[in-house]
Amino acid sequence: MAQQRGSGVADVVRRLAAVPGREDRLTHLEVLPARPPRYAEWPAWASPRVLTGFAARGADRLWSHQAAAADAAHSGTHVVVATGTASGKSLAYQLPALTAIEEGRGARGQRGATVLYIAPTKALAQDQLASLVGLGVDLRAGTYDGDSPLDQRDWVRDHADYVLTNPDMLHRSILPGHVRWAAFLRTLRYVVVDECHHYRGVFGAHVSHVLRRLRRVCASYGAHPTFVLASATVAEPEIAATRLTGLDVLPVTGDGAPRGEVALALWEPPLTSYVGENGAPVRRAASSETADLLADLVAEGVRTLAFVRSRRGVEQVALTAAALLAEVDPSLPARVAAYRGGYLPEERRELEQALRGGDLLGLAATNALELGIDVSGLDAVLMAGFPGTRAAMWQQLGRAGRGAQDAAGVLIARDDPLDTYLVHHPEALLGRPVEATVFDPSNPYVLGPHLCAAAQERPLTTDELDLFGPGARSVVDALTDAGLLRRRPSGWYWTDRRRAADLADIRSTGGPQVQLVEAETGRVVGTVDGGRSHSSAHEGAVYVHRGETYLVESLDLEEHVAVIARADPDYSTSAREVTDITVVQERQHRHWGECRLSCGEVDVSHQVVSFLKRRQPSGEVIAEEPLDLPVRTLRTTAVWWTIPDDALAEARLDPEVLPGAAHAAEHCAIGLLPLFATCDRWDIGGVSTARHADTGRLTVFVHDGHPGGAGFAERGYRAAREWLIATREAIGSCECAEGCPSCIQSPKCGNQNHPLDKEAAVRLLDVLLEHSDGSQE
Ligand SMILES: [Zn+2]
Ligand SMILES: [Zn+2]
Repeated sequence: MAQQRGSGVADVVRRLAAVPGREDRLTHLEVLPARPPRYAEWPAWASPRVLTGFAARGADRLWSHQAAAADAAHSGTHVVVATGTASGKSLAYQLPALTAIEEGRGARGQRGATVLYIAPTKALAQDQLASLVGLGVDLRAGTYDGDSPLDQRDWVRDHADYVLTNPDMLHRSILPGHVRWAAFLRTLRYVVVDECHHYRGVFGAHVSHVLRRLRRVCASYGAHPTFVLASATVAEPEIAATRLTGLDVLPVTGDGAPRGEVALALWEPPLTSYVGENGAPVRRAASSETADLLADLVAEGVRTLAFVRSRRGVEQVALTAAALLAEVDPSLPARVAAYRGGYLPEERRELEQALRGGDLLGLAATNALELGIDVSGLDAVLMAGFPGTRAAMWQQLGRAGRGAQDAAGVLIARDDPLDTYLVHHPEALLGRPVEATVFDPSNPYVLGPHLCAAAQERPLTTDELDLFGPGARSVVDALTDAGLLRRRPSGWYWTDRRRAADLADIRSTGGPQVQLVEAETGRVVGTVDGGRSHSSAHEGAVYVHRGETYLVESLDLEEHVAVIARADPDYSTSAREVTDITVVQERQHRHWGECRLSCGEVDVSHQVVSFLKRRQPSGEVIAEEPLDLPVRTLRTTAVWWTIPDDALAEARLDPEVLPGAAHAAEHCAIGLLPLFATCDRWDIGGVSTARHADTGRLTVFVHDGHPGGAGFAERGYRAAREWLIATREAIGSCECAEGCPSCIQSPKCGNQNHPLDKEAAVRLLDVLLEHSDGSQE
C-alpha cells in the first residue's frame, strides 16, 4: 500500500467492505484529507541555545499551536494546549521552560528558575526525561518518583532545575516535605501538567486538590508559577484545566501539525443466529470480526495493527487470522503475531524491526502495547470496540500513518449502545468534541483529606479556604468537630499524630481497596477499588487484569482480599445489581415544559445479586448464578428527570407500559453517558420507576457510583439535552424488534432486563424532550 497515493487508504477499506456477504457492515467511511502544516516563527524571546537543541533534532520551525502556547506561557498566562496525538505539545512548554532555566542560571551555575513537570505515569516522565536529555541543552533534570533511589531523590531536590514527577509523589512526598524543597519551590517558574485528560472522575478531583496545595505552598515562598497543561482533544479543555488548577486558563486548540490522509471506517458486525436474553438478537463479537479483517488486510500486504481489549482476545484474534490465512497461502500465517507484553528490550526491537521491514504484517495487541514498543508508521489500525474516549481512539489510530503518511482505521462496534450509536453517528466521532474531561473538586469525601494535608503543610487561614472551593468552610468545620483539625486564632491546625497525606489514596475511588491475591503463589497481582469489588471480584468472576485472565475463587469482604487463579475460561461474566434511591437534596433544576430535570444529592442502596456467564466470543448467555453479597449504601450525586401523569396520559402512554418505558430509557441513557462524560458505564448506575416516593412522578435517575460523586451525573445534567436526544435516537434507530444489548438491554441489570418496552421508551423520551430547547432554570 505504501506505493499507492491519493485515496489508496479509502480503497483498502472499500475492498474489505466489498467482500460478498459484508454488504451492510460498513456504516460510514470518512476520508479526512491530508492537512498541510501551519508554521510559525520561533519567538524572539527563546534562548538561542535551546533553539539550537531543537534544530539539531530536526525541528526547524514551529507549528502554529506550539508558538501560541509557548508565547502565552512565556508571558505568564496559564495555558492548556489541546491538540492531536503527535502534534508536538512538549515543545510548547519545553521552549519557555528551558529558556527560563537557562536565563536564570547564576554566574557560578547555580539554579535560578525551576520547572516541575507532572505526568500521570512514571513511564511518561521517563520518556520526557529522555527527550530533554537528548536536546543537548545545559540542564540538570531528573525524575522524582517511587522508583528513584534515595540518593538520587536528594540530588534532584537540591540541584535539579527540571524535576519530573507524578501527582502521587507531589501528594505524599514533595508537599508534606516542602520545607526541604523550599529552594526549589521559591524559584518555581513553570508547572507542566501533561496528559491532563487522565485526571478525571475521583482521581481528577484528588489531583485538583493536590495542585491547589502546591499553589498554596508555592505562594508561601513567594512563587506564583505559570501552569501549562497538555491535553488530548476534548470538549471544553479550558473548563477542565480551570477546575484542575483553580486558575483561569487560556485554551489553544488549533492544531498546526500536518497529517496524512486518513480513511476512518465505522463497521458494525452482523446479527448472528444466537438468541440472547428475552429473545433478543445477538451481534457477532467485535473480536471475531476483527480477526477476519486482519486476515484480509495481511493477505493484501497491508501492515496492520489490531487493538483488542484482553490478552486472551488478542491470542484469539491472532490465531483465527492465522488459520484463515493458512487457507490462502501456507506462508502467510507466520506473518501474523500476538503481542504478549513482558518482552525483553531486544525482543521488542526485533518485533519493531519485523513490522517496519514488512516481515511481520499483522500484529494483535492490547493497549499494553502503548508502553515500550514503537510501531508508528503502519498502514492500518483495527479497533475491536471503541476504546472508551475519542482521545484514546485517535491515539490508537495515530499508530498508523504517523506524520504525513496516509492511514486507514476501522472501528468495529461491540454490541452495546455506545458503540452502536457511534458507528451510526460519525459526527459524534468526527465533529465538534462532546466528551469532556469530568471530575468534581467539591466532593467532600475527597476534599476533607486534602484540607487536613494542607493544614499539616501550613496552618490553614480563612482567606485560603476559597482556593479549595465554596464547600471548603463547611468541610473544615466538620473536620474540626471531628477533632482532626483545631482552630486557633492564626488558623486551623492539624492535631493528629498521623501523616495527614496518608488519609487520601489519590488513586482509589472510595472504600478500602481489595487485594487480588494469586492462589498458587500468594502474590498480590493487583487491587480493585472497594466500590467495584462486589461487581468485578465476586466469587466466580472472570477478571481481566492487564490483559491476563483470572477466575476469582473467593472474596473476603472483611479482609479485603480476593483469591484468584490464572484460568482460560471460554466465557466472560457480568454482575447484576438491584438499586434503590432516595433524594437527599435537589441542588439545581430546570423545567422542560411540565417535565423537570434535576441534579443533586441522593442516597443509593445497591446490591449485587447474581452474575451472568456469556460464552466468548459469541456473547451467548450460558448461565446466571446467584450471589450472596450485602447491600451497600452510598451518598452521591445523581441527575434525574420526572414527567407528570397528565403529560404521560396526553401522549397515550398507558400506566402498564410506563415501568418498561422508563427502565429502557434508563439503561440506554447509562450506556450513552460515556459519550459526554469521560466515564465508563460501570462508573455509573441508575434507577427508574413509574412513581417515585420522593418525587411523586415517573422518575429516571442516573447516579455516580462513587461516594460524593465523580462529576459524571453533573455532566449529564449540563449536557442533558444532547445526551437524551442521543438516547432517544439510539433506541429508535436500533434494528431489533423489541430491545437488544445494542439499545436497551443492560448487562448489569438486576431485574433480568425486565420489564423493557422499546417502543414506549421512544415515546416517553419524546414527551421529555418536547420542550427541551426552551429550558428555564
Ligand atoms: Zn436493539
Ligand atoms: Zn435494569
